Amino acid sequence: MIETNQFKGHEKVVYLHDKESGLKAIIAVHDTSLGPAAGGCRMWPYENEMDALTDALRLSRGMSYKNAVAGLKLGGGKSVIIADPHKDKNEQLFRAFGRFVDSLNGTYISAEDVGISVEDMEIVAKETRHVIGLQSSENASGDPSPFTARGTYLGIKAAVKHKLGQDDLKGLTVAVQGVGHVGYHLCKHLDEAGAHLIVSDIHQPSLDRVVQEFGAKVVSVAEIMSVACDVLAPCALGAVLNDATIPALRTPIVAGAANNQLARDEHGQMLHDKGILYAPDYVINAGGIINVSAEARGKYDVNWVNDKVDNIYTTLGTIFERSDKEGRPTNVIADELAEEIIAAARARKKQEKAA
Ligand code: NAD
Repeated sequence: MIETNQFKGHEKVVYLHDKESGLKAIIAVHDTSLGPAAGGCRMWPYENEMDALTDALRLSRGMSYKNAVAGLKLGGGKSVIIADPHKDKNEQLFRAFGRFVDSLNGTYISAEDVGISVEDMEIVAKETRHVIGLQSSENASGDPSPFTARGTYLGIKAAVKHKLGQDDLKGLTVAVQGVGHVGYHLCKHLDEAGAHLIVSDIHQPSLDRVVQEFGAKVVSVAEIMSVACDVLAPCALGAVLNDATIPALRTPIVAGAANNQLARDEHGQMLHDKGILYAPDYVINAGGIINVSAEARGKYDVNWVNDKVDNIYTTLGTIFERSDKEGRPTNVIADELAEEIIAAARARKKQEKAA
């Protein structure tokens, strides 16, 4: 199990096996210097335990970075349940998972991720209070998408300001790939700001809605990544910035909400070399985690959430400036910024302990 190069300063990795329910899961706590390690639980039929471990280690580190740069008092963690979400779900399994989460005494806070629904997490919550993203709780934060969309909109404005020297989006063309939960709300902000919209989706009703409401122009799924525009906003799938798509891009800016947009880290360098400004995904799409994290503070406060989402504009501005000054890609700068924030928190904690 330990022959993986994905161990990067992880504090704790727990392998869980509950014989009765058949639960096999891993909880990875990457770093708790800023606070409890928060991150979703993913259910996936991994081919083997090593794949599951690699995913948990990689995703938990990603959560540390995302939470740190978003200015949250949360560390990073992630859990994976090795099972098929279409076949293997049952109450016993989720309750066993909840007991394991509870045994960590709040070091890890769980939530939904791929393959896990709010209903599943409601079962987990019967065994532990260390769960966020529940609908039934009186502290529920609700749908994160509008917050993710607003943060993405502010991130687009920061990118336009930096790259095009323009304070507003009036008259600019923004191409949005995927007009689902986040994409729809993003289109609304962009339309209100006077931008022209080009959109693509595989779901016709979603397209019809943005055409009717915002006069968006539709292009095919094959065309969207190479359409001429001022901003390309990927809001659908991961790994859309890759060896095949980057050479064909006709945009000075890529700034969208989708997770894991770069197929590999090197694609950040490729964008940088082409003079395309890339807004690192986990920085620009942090609105959702900011919103749900408000549950962990006790009482949900929408003003606190909005203030934190507003900061995405400034944080991206800092990353863009540093990238220009140092001549290095924005994704690398974002990771370094996260590491600096975490290291400073770790040093503070150490000092407090010594005092
Ligand atoms: P969603 O499923 O509601 O929307 C995704 C849309 O993309 C759908 O309408 C789907 O039909 C479309 N799509 C799928 N394949 C496509 C393709 N090949 N070309 C064009 N469109 C395609 O999901 P969402 O909640 O809007 O999230 C969108 C992205 O943002 C995801 O990558 C998600 O991980 C990320 N994200 C979402 C949130 C949030 O708050 N919902 C937070 C952070 C990150």
